Amino acid sequence: MSEKEVRVRIAPSPSGYLHVGTARTAIFNWLYARNKGGKFLVRIEDTDVSRSDAALVQPILDAMKWLGIDWDEEPVYQSKKIDSYGVYVNKLINSGNAYRCFCTPDELDERRKKAMAEKKPLQYNRACLHRSEDEIKQLLAENKPFAIRLKIPDGETTYNDKILGDITRQNSEIEDLIICRANGRAIYNLAVVVDDHEMGITDVIRGNDHISNTFKQIHIYQALSLTPPNFAHVPLILRPDKKKVSKRLGDKDVAEYGAEGILPEAMFNFLCLLGWSPKDDREFLPIEELKKIFVLENVNGSNPIFNEEKLIALNGEYIRSYPDHELAAMVAPELVRAGYTSKYWLETRWQYLMDIIGMLKERCKRMSDFVAMSEHFFHNEFEYDDKAVKKRFNHEAAERMKQLCDKFESIGNFKLENIEGALGDLAEELQIKKGELIHPVRLAVSGISFGPSLYHILEALGQQEVLARMKKAIEFINKMGDK
Ligand code: GLU
Repeated sequence: MSEKEVRVRIAPSPSGYLHVGTARTAIFNWLYARNKGGKFLVRIEDTDVSRSDAALVQPILDAMKWLGIDWDEEPVYQSKKIDSYGVYVNKLINSGNAYRCFCTPDELDERRKKAMAEKKPLQYNRACLHRSEDEIKQLLAENKPFAIRLKIPDGETTYNDKILGDITRQNSEIEDLIICRANGRAIYNLAVVVDDHEMGITDVIRGNDHISNTFKQIHIYQALSLTPPNFAHVPLILRPDKKKVSKRLGDKDVAEYGAEGILPEAMFNFLCLLGWSPKDDREFLPIEELKKIFVLENVNGSNPIFNEEKLIALNGEYIRSYPDHELAAMVAPELVRAGYTSKYWLETRWQYLMDIIGMLKERCKRMSDFVAMSEHFFHNEFEYDDKAVKKRFNHEAAERMKQLCDKFESIGNFKLENIEGALGDLAEELQIKKGELIHPVRLAVSGISFGPSLYHILEALGQQEVLARMKKAIEFINKMGDK
């Protein structure tokens, strides 16, 4: 017998941008589908008008695309299906699995307060479950508003969670939940069941904060005589302070990480390792590899911690794994945006750009580091870093730089070995450490006190430019002294 095609989904609510938790759950679902040759779908859960913002849907979809997640059918919008739930509600009433509840919000509130004061269970007291046919007819004739409640049967319910194993709850812990409000709007759990059923979802993989919903949803499936999908609940991502990651606490969304220079592949890889592992010590796992090895059995039960430093380190690994020409293509628009150079300039000096990228990439942990470390390769209008000036620029440094200029001027072929040789010779002559020359020269030619090997920078800039910049720095130092 051929196995049923796997169909999974991510169901974001557009109440914020793509959250790292939702992205991670999307990744698990997507990898599961891709690994099994199944389908990955998207459903936008936008029925809660007060919390949903239609303008957030596109950014959520864009952030998923950015991560490399694609979907196999048009996204389903819950708000467009609002009228389709009534049929199911009627089915539940007609089969005796749901009943009309005429209790007013005030009555419910009062009862709840009383129960609270008496330390009794807060559940609905089933006042409307036992109304007679005549009573109901009468109330309907009076146009009394009513909600619809699901009648939870006696006993207990067990389901086999694909990650957590068998989970059992006493049905008495669940009240007869409202599935349709007095205004005719279906309630969340009913909509989820109907949508998952109509979308042919075979496996629901979602955060473990939904386990209590799962029990409610299983009751709805059973009442509708539908077979529930498989359920798999993944552990929630925590902050280093062990609180749940949240926008409110200042945690960034996926697009923000992208804007900060995190590569999509690194983000994908990092998020996938939050709660899942290949069961060996590999951490650098590109998407193509993950597609082959992802299995739900390797999702851990415990809550993973979001460690941003780890993400940045992994991003650095991805940067180093990219060929220079690919990085150059990614960095070029950023350099133009930063105002360092023009598109035309770069297009005509592509090899120069690749050399710089090759030089910097060992040191870059975010794509934005390329921009931060490269201004001086494109023009000489940069300012010297204040702190470095205090530490490195003084008359002695100027004097030494003057002598170094003479040495550099006499180099016939301004190549790495010759540059290094000239600087080494002067250090020896002056009986100083090479660093005494390297630090001020670095500041003179780049304006900053960090970056790749100075000899490489000097070679890339070329003899004339290096001499011009060193002379400009000497003048600057001399003027400093005048003040
Ligand atoms: N909209 C829900 C959420 O964002 C998803 C519910 C589900 O996956 O069933 O948490």
